[in-house]
Amino acid sequence: MDPFTYERASDHQTALTLGSRSGAKYVGGGTNLVDLMRETIEHPTMLVDVTGLSCAIEETGDGGLRIGAGMRNTAVAADRRVRERYPMLSQAILAGASAQIRNMATVGGNLLQRTRCGYFYDDAAHCNKREPGAGCDAIEGFNRMHAIFGASNACVATHPSDMAVALAALKAVVTVENRNGARDIPLVDFHVLPGETPHVETVLEAGELITAVTVPAGIAGPSAYRKVRDRASYAFALISVAAALEVRDGVVKEVQIALGGVAHKPWRAYVAEAALQDGPPTEAAFRAAAQAEFAAARGLRDNAFKIELGQRVVIDTLVKLAALQETR
Ligand SMILES: Cc1cc2nc3c(=O)[nH]c(=O)nc-3n(C[C@H](O)[C@H](O)[C@H](O)COP(=O)(O)OP(=O)(O)OC[C@H]3O[C@@H](n4cnc5c(N)ncnc54)[C@H](O)[C@@H]3O)c2cc1C
Repeated sequence: MDPFTYERASDHQTALTLGSRSGAKYVGGGTNLVDLMRETIEHPTMLVDVTGLSCAIEETGDGGLRIGAGMRNTAVAADRRVRERYPMLSQAILAGASAQIRNMATVGGNLLQRTRCGYFYDDAAHCNKREPGAGCDAIEGFNRMHAIFGASNACVATHPSDMAVALAALKAVVTVENRNGARDIPLVDFHVLPGETPHVETVLEAGELITAVTVPAGIAGPSAYRKVRDRASYAFALISVAAALEVRDGVVKEVQIALGGVAHKPWRAYVAEAALQDGPPTEAAFRAAAQAEFAAARGLRDNAFKIELGQRVVIDTLVKLAALQETR
């Protein structure tokens, strides 16, 4: 690990001033950043601790919640309003990492955690994300965990967050601050696809601080987060599905679906959503919608199984949500 200095920010202005210094990085729970520093993948010269900032969940006034970026993952998942209004969000958080890590991890840090691609962590391997222009050993290598949507010739890594997948389905908005003010970014636009620059992972600019994530009022139907992984706990998603379904008068009035473990960013399933809108909530319709979404998927040597698996998880999740709807 390289030497670095540490400052604890007492307020946002201090954080932004310190965070704009060359070599500075914000630190939340440190559960990802400190690992990357130990592995000498990241080399900040100053850590600005922002864990004391933005630590509340507030009502937005229109039925939504504004979740402070400094909130610990455990506290968000346990919040009664989150559990009641956004079960998929609570379930997604609880499906990630371990209780100890969730106790430390913050909302801001969770969104900015970096890929778990083994070649990114292996400094003997070629990785365009770690070293732009170096090449990508994952494309011809062990790529079971890798992307089937939106990958490029430069990078096939996936985004590892579970929480972000639920937030994408819920149409959440990320608020960030810089020294000129604040701006709001829809979560689906916050992370970017790799293209030729996989080291650029979000639209965040240097020194910008995430302060909150706002989740609008949920749809009037049940929601769920399903995660398929190699072990029952402490494993990243092979495929995950966050979905909410509202059926009225026998047709799908609203449906929100996002996928995890499939792309460089949480993947909003717009094609499937459009296919389902105003149609019957039947297994056949769910199957057709899943097929339409996954028609654009591309498998690599080891991960093509995700194309079939992903469709099955989408169909099964929607079937269960439709059944729940009937019992309401
Ligand atoms: C063994 C293990 C298993 C795991 N399994 C899962 C899993 O199954 N699912 C899952 O989703 N996650 C998993 N994780 C990842 C875990 O969720 C993340 O490490 C955690 O959410 C990161 O949050 P943090 O606050 O500790 O971030 P940090 O490590 O503190 O920071 C991460 C990044 O965010 C930046 N940052 C932090 N806060 C802000 C802010 N407010 N504004 C701007 N930048 C900020 C930092 O500069 C850094 O770049 C696992 C981690 C480990 C170690």
